[in-house]
Amino acid sequence: MALSLARRGISATVIEKRTGFGELGAGLQITPNSGRVLDGLDLTLPLKRVSVSSHGLMIRRWADGRELLEMPSDPARLPTPFRMLKRNDLHTVLLDAARSMPNIRLVVGRGVQEITQEDDGVSTTLTGQNGQWESFHGLGLIGADGLWSRVRDLNGDTSRPLFTGYEAWRALAPGTKTDKPRVNLHLGPGRHTVHYPVAGGRETNVVVVRQTKEAREGWSRDGDGDVLTDHVAGGSQALRELVASAQGWQAWSLFDRKPAVMAKGRIALLGDAAHPVLPFLAQGASLAIEDAAVLARLLAETLQADGSRGVPAAMAAYAAARSARAARVQDASRSNGRTYHLGWPWSIGRDIALRRLGPDGLRARYGWLYDWRDE
Ligand SMILES: Cc1cc2nc3c(=O)[nH]c(=O)nc-3n(C[C@H](O)[C@H](O)[C@H](O)COP(=O)(O)OP(=O)(O)OC[C@H]3O[C@@H](n4cnc5c(N)ncnc54)[C@H](O)[C@@H]3O)c2cc1C
Repeated sequence: MALSLARRGISATVIEKRTGFGELGAGLQITPNSGRVLDGLDLTLPLKRVSVSSHGLMIRRWADGRELLEMPSDPARLPTPFRMLKRNDLHTVLLDAARSMPNIRLVVGRGVQEITQEDDGVSTTLTGQNGQWESFHGLGLIGADGLWSRVRDLNGDTSRPLFTGYEAWRALAPGTKTDKPRVNLHLGPGRHTVHYPVAGGRETNVVVVRQTKEAREGWSRDGDGDVLTDHVAGGSQALRELVASAQGWQAWSLFDRKPAVMAKGRIALLGDAAHPVLPFLAQGASLAIEDAAVLARLLAETLQADGSRGVPAAMAAYAAARSARAARVQDASRSNGRTYHLGWPWSIGRDIALRRLGPDGLRARYGWLYDWRDE
């Protein structure tokens, strides 16, 4: 968000409650809809250095690895840029770019505690880990503080994240020279696995999603790889070997939350703070990047036309522009979760439908998602 604002000449202060900007977890797919935004921020070259371009998608059956659908590498079918990379690498690229902008200030180790809306802006109180506090004043405040957003709560939203019954285990395995650089999906009853190369192909990001009754305490913790060895015992040999070779498993309980009111006066929400997305369409980070592009454009246009008094109108226009798309992505992700995990006999219908759909059908189905461009 800060980069999108700064490139349009608007100064931004980034407030991060952790003491650094590093990201836990393993990989991310950055699909064309958000990849174009990052290219527009002149990040093409640094991203190229740390990511792998996807050459398609392969969907297989969990138990025997049989192919259900292959989307081959073909620009007409697979829009570009479609990048696969480590979260840390994306963070480093964004951080380097932010540090090179004189109109971005980075404040770490202090979290937003209180917010007051005033006629001419928003004041916020921050507290640090050892209890010290300070305050900031700006023309507006953008809450990009994730699923458990404090800004969303302070804005009067009383809804809570709800546990979905899904748990995602993430780890990195060594890269393989033989595998095509693409996203691989294995569908099984009550479970699925996604894996793709990252770090120039030297490593493979592996995610195993399973269903459980209870949420784990906290949002992430070191997982126990043996649990997964049992979990994939009925999977194909390739799947078992992949899981056995991965290290550093961490488990995430997956929560859902209904979409927020995305703007109130001079306060806006974006990304998971506004509309958390289950990972079954790989779109949560992409939506956040799209949100940022739209909000920065609207704020720049308004500031130029009406000065700072136009900020609430720009925030309202942003909410109007983004709400329906965000809700559609949330729904499509939930729906994928249900379809991926179908058990027998319903899985037979799903597998037949996938084979009939084929790569062209799949491309057409997600045209609305990947072909998105800001005006
Ligand atoms: C298994 C899995 C796989 C995924 N794969 C993909 C994928 O391939 N592609 C994709 O696009 N998405 C993917 N996602 C979703 C993606 O990770 C999230 O949607 C994305 O990280 C949301 O970004 P965000 O910036 O909105 O929130 P977050 O990433 O949660 O960042 C919020 C930040 O705000 C900070 N913060 C919190 N509270 C405060 C406060 N009070 N004051 C200051 N700072 C605060 C936090 O420390 C954090 O740094 C995946 C998710 C999972 C679980």
